Amino acid sequence: APPSAHSRPYKPTLLVSRLYQPSHLRDVGQDTRLQGEMTCKSQRLMLQAGLIHPSNPGCYYYLPATVRSMEKLVRVIDQEMQAIGGQKLDMPSLCSAELWKTSERWDLMGKELFRLKDRHDVDFCLSPTHEEAVTTLVAHQATLSYRQLPLLLYQITRKFRDEPKPKFGLLRGREFYMKDMYSFDVSEEAAYQTYESVCQAYSRLFARLGLHYVQVQADTGNIGGKLSHEFQLPAQIGEDRLLVCGTCSFSANVETMTSDRMDCPQCKTGTLMESKGIEVGHTFYLGKKYSQVFQATFSNAQNKLSVAEMGCYGLGVTRILAAAIEVLSTEEGIRWPDLLAPYQVCVLPPKKGSKVDEASGLAEELVHMLAERLPRLRGEVVLDDRTQMTIGKRLKDAKRLGYPYVIVVGQAALEEMPRYEVICQQTGETMFLSEDGLYDLL
Ligand code: ATP
Ligand code: MG
Ligand code: MG
Ligand code: MG
Repeated sequence: APPSAHSRPYKPTLLVSRLYQPSHLRDVGQDTRLQGEMTCKSQRLMLQAGLIHPSNPGCYYYLPATVRSMEKLVRVIDQEMQAIGGQKLDMPSLCSAELWKTSERWDLMGKELFRLKDRHDVDFCLSPTHEEAVTTLVAHQATLSYRQLPLLLYQITRKFRDEPKPKFGLLRGREFYMKDMYSFDVSEEAAYQTYESVCQAYSRLFARLGLHYVQVQADTGNIGGKLSHEFQLPAQIGEDRLLVCGTCSFSANVETMTSDRMDCPQCKTGTLMESKGIEVGHTFYLGKKYSQVFQATFSNAQNKLSVAEMGCYGLGVTRILAAAIEVLSTEEGIRWPDLLAPYQVCVLPPKKGSKVDEASGLAEELVHMLAERLPRLRGEVVLDDRTQMTIGKRLKDAKRLGYPYVIVVGQAALEEMPRYEVICQQTGETMFLSEDGLYDLL
């Protein structure tokens, strides 16, 4: 007979000893294979904390803590995209070559496009982006009316690009998650408004994540179109070179500059300062480039067919995760944007056999109390039950993973007025708090 549901008690407590965070990668320093691959801080920290595991070049296993963090990021992105009217869909990753030939990008994309054939010898690609697919979809709708526009469709899916140099962990993969949104509008003017509202949504998103970004004029590359901006996180390892005017609002990716003279082309008086950035988002005003060839039309107010004005807007979802870690973290441990930490709190009971062993029970109680009193923390508090290890060793691990709050339950918790040692990883601050103080803080 199969074991009854009762034979395995349900354990709501999240125990660090049971979390799948493969520790054989912890000491990257001793693993020569990994040493060779280590190209930046976020990659090293993510490997050490058991967040990712390498498979093929540019491809990673996203381990459970990363998936938790990604799901949180997706939720925030969904909120911001839906706040401006975005509707989420999910398009196939396999795309027929026909579509890419129609847009003339089958040849243009060169080696970056992953190509394959099906059993009937028909050409396909693994989509690196979805302008062709979404425009065809909208073109198939015979009855699209101007009243339904602007139409904003987006998805958060895996994208495939055979990057010449996949590196920096999740920052430049060959298989990665992107949020890509596509807009359809009645006129150029309406399309500019939509473009503007997406840029504002991006700026709200980065503000909520606590990430400082620079918005720069950008090249339209092989996506094409008339107007384009990149959202860049300033970072030393960034692969983009940015020019920002010290006097006016001008900022641009070097790629867009025809001359590299350092005087500002906008105000003419300011000097351009160069810095490096990680491109985390990219917006394009496409005009009719795709809607014309695929005949994405709508019936206008005069009941005549008219070709839609389009925009497309990418966000590197996995890249944002890694880039946030890159710009916020110290060399010793990850600092997450609060909203994205895989778990919010880690509770550390004392080492087994130590003189304050009896505080162990209190630690477990605390985990339950936190979840009871603060619904926001349900499923967010882990107990580091590896009590054969010293507090110091476990603290080091907790710092690596970057729980925003680490609570040490030790001697002070046994006193008449129990107090808990709380380490705020974001600020590096340590404080001793009463139970109520703890609830206030969290
Ligand atoms: P890059 O210049 O870094 O190669 P891109 O300009 O080719 O990026 P876009 O086509 O603008 O990329 O795609 C939209 C977003 O997808 C980018 O802004 C970036 O955040 C993300 N992205 C692009 N390529 C990768 C990749 N190889 N790995 C992870 N994220 C990526
Ligand atoms: Mg690229
Ligand atoms: Mg780019
Ligand atoms: Mg780009």
